[in-house]
Amino acid sequence: MAETPLMSQYREIKSQYTDSILLFRLGDFYEMFFDDAVTASKELGLTLTSRNREKDLDIPLAGVPYHSVASYIAKLVAKGYKVAICDQVEDPKSAKGIVKREVTRIITPGTVIDTDFLDEKSNNYLMGIKITDEYVALAYIDITTGEFKASEIYGKESFFKLLGEINKVAPKEILLDEASYDRYIEEFKKHNSLSEIKFTKTVERKKADSYLKDYFKVISLESYGLKDKKGAIKASAMVLEYVVELQKGKELPITSLSYINSEKVMELNITTQRNLDIVDNYRERNSAGTLLWVLDECMTSMGSRLLKKFLKNPLLDVEKIKKRQEDVGYFIENVLLREEIREKLKDIYDIERILGKLILETENGRDLIALKKSIKNSLEIYKLLKGNSLFEIDIKVLVEIYNIIEKAIVDEPPFSIREGGVIRSGYNADLDELHGISKDGKDYILEIENRERERTGIKGLKIKYNKVFGYFIEVTKVNSALVPEDYIRKQTLANAERYIVADLKEYEEKVLNAKERIETLEYHLFKELTAEIKKYREDLQNLAYKVAYLDVITDFSHIAIKNSYVRPDVDDGGDIEIIAGRHPVIEKLIPVGEFVKNNIVFDDKREIIILTGPNMSGKSTYMKQTALIIIMAHIGSYVPANYAKIGLVDKIFTRVGASDDLLTGQSTFMLEMSEVANIVNSATKKSFIILDEIGRGTSTFDGISIATAITEYIHEKIGAKTIFATHYHELTQLEDKLEKSENFRIEVKEDENEIIFLREIVKGGADKSYGIEVARLAGLPKEILERSKAILKRLEERKEIVEKNLGGEQLLLFGNIASQNKECSKKETPKIGELTKEQKIVMRVLDEIEPEKLTPLEALLKLNELKKILNGS
Ligand code: ADP
Ligand code: MG
Repeated sequence: MAETPLMSQYREIKSQYTDSILLFRLGDFYEMFFDDAVTASKELGLTLTSRNREKDLDIPLAGVPYHSVASYIAKLVAKGYKVAICDQVEDPKSAKGIVKREVTRIITPGTVIDTDFLDEKSNNYLMGIKITDEYVALAYIDITTGEFKASEIYGKESFFKLLGEINKVAPKEILLDEASYDRYIEEFKKHNSLSEIKFTKTVERKKADSYLKDYFKVISLESYGLKDKKGAIKASAMVLEYVVELQKGKELPITSLSYINSEKVMELNITTQRNLDIVDNYRERNSAGTLLWVLDECMTSMGSRLLKKFLKNPLLDVEKIKKRQEDVGYFIENVLLREEIREKLKDIYDIERILGKLILETENGRDLIALKKSIKNSLEIYKLLKGNSLFEIDIKVLVEIYNIIEKAIVDEPPFSIREGGVIRSGYNADLDELHGISKDGKDYILEIENRERERTGIKGLKIKYNKVFGYFIEVTKVNSALVPEDYIRKQTLANAERYIVADLKEYEEKVLNAKERIETLEYHLFKELTAEIKKYREDLQNLAYKVAYLDVITDFSHIAIKNSYVRPDVDDGGDIEIIAGRHPVIEKLIPVGEFVKNNIVFDDKREIIILTGPNMSGKSTYMKQTALIIIMAHIGSYVPANYAKIGLVDKIFTRVGASDDLLTGQSTFMLEMSEVANIVNSATKKSFIILDEIGRGTSTFDGISIATAITEYIHEKIGAKTIFATHYHELTQLEDKLEKSENFRIEVKEDENEIIFLREIVKGGADKSYGIEVARLAGLPKEILERSKAILKRLEERKEIVEKNLGGEQLLLFGNIASQNKECSKKETPKIGELTKEQKIVMRVLDEIEPEKLTPLEALLKLNELKKILNGS
């Protein structure tokens, strides 16, 4: 059966956008057909109908009204779909045959420009990644603000580091070139933490370098820090081109690109970011209970976004940190000034995104008014801060922009820029004249009303307006008899009649004509104006940054006073000393004053702290508080302590031996081992490591031996500052073995049947394990407790045996460090080719094992089995 021309047109367009949901404009609706309709009706809760049923074609169909399409697009995109918008690109009235249609915009999760549907406190990033054997390169863009950054990662553990970067940037969508996609997509998919990101396979640009140069109209990429950064250039060209294509060549707010040297910021890998709850609370999926939650009382969304960036990229430059501290200090001293500024910041809108809207041409009159108010408040802040280099803005330019808007735009413009009412009177002579005509016309129509009332003697005669008939005279039925001859009847209602007269129509035409011309002219004037403002994009971008920075700095001062923080002494040395430190988040979650303060000191004699204490005594809190204070110090914030001296820390690692596997689908044991491998491979002397109940994913004795081996390794080979927490008191023996380690314990008071947590940290190790005592506290039945004790005793015996058997070989589990291998192979092992029959069997079994598919218990049993084979038993 022959298809309608419309459906042929649809198919033709759809065939070019098979990977997208195509929204096809039909009159006042955007329609979706076939599978798109089925998907959309499911995802958006629309009714699925069908078209051409009578012709036996039965095409599934779902539609949304054009004026609310934005919210539907937002929903689809948030669910990870790619949406193509197909519009009518000629006036249906003048179209011959079928109206011409084209896809005008494509929206993906990483390229949303409709900021109404985005979280204002977060950026919306699109990231491009290219992974080769040589490097990992990445680049990301926020199309709503124009931010564009690139970076490269080298060396060991680069994939792991990449995961950290992804978590920091938190893109909504990731592009991978074909090769990287094919090789790594499975790897990415393994990580639950990435499950909400849309991965898109894309084609790589051959001439990335010249593509970027052409786009930015520069002769060299050197000024962006991209000299010799082959990978970063490729990744950048890849994301930029993607955005450009989706926007179908429209102008973008992206005006420059900057290379981020990840070496200049503290490394926080994905596990650490999550364990420390810095910005997101991954269990609750929001920011409650995070460091951000405590610190963010910013007044603007630009400030909140910048603070997030600060938190994810702690500085490694003492001078820069000190500069921020000084700025914060200034507003701690000048309380009144700070309060005044924060009051003004409150009325500064999202300049960054307004500018983005101007450039993407999605702005309206209200955005300009918001911009005007923001400039006004910025200028007032400038006045308050006169002379302070903290807020250097070009006031002359800003006043100019202010005046442009002030002169042209009414104070309360309507939402739409196509229906007039946006431009002030007195701004444009032609417009004023049109308004005059329109007003005269309306006045004249009122005159007609009076005239006709007198002429006919009908007191209730009214002139009304509607879209169908334009202006008309309405007379109630009772008065019908009084209607003169020359009235032309247009419509009869239940109790009234509607008429027109000749001169009414004449003036109507004038009014309507003027109205149409006003709309067109206003739109034109508005666009002229925004084009003018766009020229100042750099000044506005600078203003946006200055406001954001000022907001964060005054926020830091405000928070420091509110929460009694102190300015930490930050230096290049290796020592850390925190006196009466508190956990910034926990102290907020418990009654005021109940948090027990604790000290910590690391110096050249003490690198490793072995911390024992029962479950729930406060070990994790103490370690995390140390990490959080270190991070706060590195972003220029004050810290919750009475005194703090913080030597720069290049990386923070955390290994929390919880039984969950939040981050990946791997078994806990495998996860633990790969994370530990990452730590020992990446940590340096300047790093800070938290090992919290490591080895918990395995059985007690195994856990203890792994933990011991790791601690020894860190002590001997790395020298990183480490806190090692455990409720197994057995580990306190390490103090004697390791010169720079020291035992601490969390004090508890014990009487007949209970433990009282004092939460105070004192020197010395615990003398027994408390796990079971705590179980008693929790009200477990006596039989279970007895049984636990028996098991513990057996485990402890087994542990000794295992320790003897395994010795240093444990290290092989997580390090492929050559020297280590040598050390470990004290026992004579036969050379390859001289394997015994048992050894060969073991090799084969090993080869068949898929470790990630084993539970820790199965793995242990397997190990046991292998050992048995080797021993020939
Ligand atoms: P552990 O790691 O030893 O099992 P946690 O660090 O998880 O114990 O602490 C358990 C709870 O004890 C915390 O959630 C907190 O409510 C409380 N707590 C911990 N440290 C302190 C402290 N210094 N002052 C007050 N309460 C604390
Ligand atoms: Mg704990």
